[in-house]
Amino acid sequence: MNGDILEVSDLTVSYGDMTVLRDVNMTVGEGGVVSVVGANGAGKTTLLKTIVGAKAPDSGSIRFKDEDAVGRKPHELIERGLTYVPERHTIFPEMTVLDNLRTALVPAENSGPDPLEEVFDLFPILDERRGQQAGTMSGGQQQMLAIAQGLVVDPDLIMLDEPTLGLAPKIIEDVRDTIEEISNEGVTVLLVDEKIQLSKEVADELYLMRKNTLQYLGSRGEFEDEYDRILQQTID
Ligand code: ATP
Repeated sequence: MNGDILEVSDLTVSYGDMTVLRDVNMTVGEGGVVSVVGANGAGKTTLLKTIVGAKAPDSGSIRFKDEDAVGRKPHELIERGLTYVPERHTIFPEMTVLDNLRTALVPAENSGPDPLEEVFDLFPILDERRGQQAGTMSGGQQQMLAIAQGLVVDPDLIMLDEPTLGLAPKIIEDVRDTIEEISNEGVTVLLVDEKIQLSKEVADELYLMRKNTLQYLGSRGEFEDEYDRILQQTID
C-alpha cells in the first residue's frame, strides 16, 4: 500500500436521475482519523454506503487496501477489514449487550484471541453490563455498543456515520474518547459528522461535502484556525 488504506477517485453516484455525488475524490491514510463534514442531505451517508458496497456508483473507482472495492458485496469487504456503523445505530434493544455483539461476529477461521473479550477490554462499561438489556442503557452507551459491534470483526478501517447524533454534550465527550482509543489501537477511522464539533477534536484530516462535491480542507494544522468559517459552510 502507498500509505492510503482507501482511495476514492472520480466517484459519481445517483438515485434515479438525481446525482448525489459528482466526481468525488478522497484518500484515507492508514492509521489516521479522517472526517467528512457537511449539511444534512449533502451526500455523506451515500458516500459511506457506496464505499461499503451497499449502493452501486454510476462511475469512478474505490480502492480498499489496494484492491478494487466496487462490485464487492458488503460481507466481502467486512472480511477484508472494512466496517460501517450506520447513522441511528443498529442495536437490538431487547437483547443483551453480549448477544448484540454476537450478532455482529463473523465466524473466525483461526483461533486467535477472542474478539468479544478484546472489545470488552476496550469498553469496560459494556463488560460490566454484558448481561443487561441494551435498550435500558443510556444513549451514549448504546452508541458505544454500536461502535463495538463494528469492532468485533477486527477491522482495519471503521466508518462511523454521525456517531454523536442526538447525544448530550457530556456523552459526546465519551464518544470522542472512544474514537481516540480506537485510533490508538491502530484502526483507521472515517467519520461522518454533520457539524464540525467532534471532528475539531479528533480529525487529522478534514473534507467538506457541499452541493454534491467533496472538498479537501486539509490536515489539522491547516484547518484549525478556520472552524467558524467551516461551520458556516456546513449550514449553507
Ligand atoms: P444526512 O445527514 O441527512 O444523512 P447526508 O449528507 O448523509 O445527510 P444522504 O443521506 O447521503 O446525505 O442523502 C443525499 C441525498 O440523497 C438527499 O437528497 C437524500 O434525500 C437522497 N437520498 C438518500 N437516500 C436515498 C434513496 N435511497 N433514494 C432516493 N434518494 C435518496
